Amino acid sequence: MSADVWTDLEARGLLLDLEARGIVLSVHRGNLASQQAGLLTDADRALLAEHKPALLLLVLAFDDRTLVRLARLQAGEVGPPVLLPGLCRDCGDSLPLAVRWGVCGWCAIARRQHTRAPLPESLLEVFPAEVVGLYARRGALEGGAGSRVSQGRSESGGLFAGVA
Ligand SMILES: [Zn+2]
Repeated sequence: MSADVWTDLEARGLLLDLEARGIVLSVHRGNLASQQAGLLTDADRALLAEHKPALLLLVLAFDDRTLVRLARLQAGEVGPPVLLPGLCRDCGDSLPLAVRWGVCGWCAIARRQHTRAPLPESLLEVFPAEVVGLYARRGALEGGAGSRVSQGRSESGGLFAGVA
């Protein structure tokens, strides 16, 4: 587990290289996917598999949902905390089933980017299973009894082709 995916220069370099070649990655049920998967070489796929956890988090860090929250933090437009169980304290979105209190994954990443704090791979655990699949939290961080853990099957037949 990387304590800070920003320091994984190979993973970041790979993302930049793919982006320069017009290949955009997204995250579906714990897998990396791309509409441009046909452009990936075998070497790309091997690197994607090797750096998968860091890449999942890095892709989520550039997700629109993260960037919207980050922009709000940077503009000082954060309202009063939402103090209801099962809802994100910062944005009010639903939290994963096993989580009663705290912030959602996108808010957690945005906060850390805003304060330039490290992005540990363990942040994957605060995202819902439909996003991170196997990496969905097992209830450990908040003392929950453990949520159902998805098998992380990649969704096939849609717009996206799973790549790692
Ligand atoms: Zn949130």
